[in-house]
Amino acid sequence: MTTPVQDPRPVDLAPDQPTPTDLPALLLLGTGADPASERGVDCPGELPPASDPDLVERARAAKAALGDRVFVLGHHYQRDEVIQFADVTGDSFKLARLAADRPEAPYVVFCGVHFMAESADILTADHQQVVLPDLAAGCSMADMATFDQVEECWEALEDAGIAGDVVPVTYMNSSADIKAFVGRHGGVVCTSSNAKRALDWAYARGSKVLFLPDQHLGRNTAVLELGFALEDCVVYNPHRPGGGLPDGALRDARMILWRGHCSVHGRFSLDSVNDVRARVPGVNVLVHPECQHEVVTAADLVGSTEFIIKAIEEAPAGSSWAVGTELNLVRRLANAHPDKNVMFLDKTVCFCSTMNRIDLPHLVLSLESLARGEVVNRIQVDPETAHYARAALDRMLALP
Ligand code: SF4
Repeated sequence: MTTPVQDPRPVDLAPDQPTPTDLPALLLLGTGADPASERGVDCPGELPPASDPDLVERARAAKAALGDRVFVLGHHYQRDEVIQFADVTGDSFKLARLAADRPEAPYVVFCGVHFMAESADILTADHQQVVLPDLAAGCSMADMATFDQVEECWEALEDAGIAGDVVPVTYMNSSADIKAFVGRHGGVVCTSSNAKRALDWAYARGSKVLFLPDQHLGRNTAVLELGFALEDCVVYNPHRPGGGLPDGALRDARMILWRGHCSVHGRFSLDSVNDVRARVPGVNVLVHPECQHEVVTAADLVGSTEFIIKAIEEAPAGSSWAVGTELNLVRRLANAHPDKNVMFLDKTVCFCSTMNRIDLPHLVLSLESLARGEVVNRIQVDPETAHYARAALDRMLALP
């Protein structure tokens, strides 16, 4: 079966932003080079063919040979064929922290996407080397905010005379460059679990927030948890001069949202919610806060990946759940809880195609190379970027 390719076109989420963003197409698996973005470069070495019937045995043997020298992290959205080799599973932040807690493992294989491996490199000890099995496993959301674009936005804030009032906050799902930018400007990183606390922290230090790069998490948190009006938020489009905003809009806004979104969660629609409610009486709709505002407001429960897992685990037998998050996770939850009726919220939304670039052949290549003492596909953040990104991460860790 082939993995469906995401439609890279953006989903428009607010009535004031009808123009599509020009995003370049995602690179094909392991080909080409685009070091200026999250999308990775060539995959060195001899990739085993996907048809090799011994892949599972090869991965098992290489991992056994490495023993405690390797720590394999599996993000919740990974395929089953990869997750079976994970020592721990979790969301991006939990995994980076767990890697930092295992300094005895010199090799950390991060089965996730590029920004996650960067965060793991920043948080782990210097002697630990972080490997991303396929360097082409980027994140389309993280790609939507480049360092140059964010610098340009900050200049627009300076020109408007308001930069001194703005505290930048970036979602974990951003490149190390963006985290470092935020760290340099006195801001903080947040996750989908602590976004409210991060915003409370930021508004105690400035009257405005620049929220990067996921407009939905920013809007949903500001409106649903901080009690802002939708009109308090503006969307800065990095592809338009001045963010495409009318004069005075930046000055009047309390929340400046970056025009980015998740290509998976952003595709769930209000129709999917209405449709499942009509089809399944008594269904509970449970979605991730990266979904569009109208989806989140129509849902019964909203929360991070860890929250979603816990909600399903604690749900009574016989209850029905339509879950709006990545398909691999929803499928695993459905299989793990056959006493509950767990289904995917939408019929058309597909897997995260970049996350799915990590497959068994790439995992085998990484593990066998490490077993030979050869480190391939290492992710290394330069010391200065790591220093400032770490400052923004540490502020998050210190949140009350
Ligand atoms: S699910 Fe969305 S935010 Fe997560 S890695 Fe994929 S594109 Fe990025």
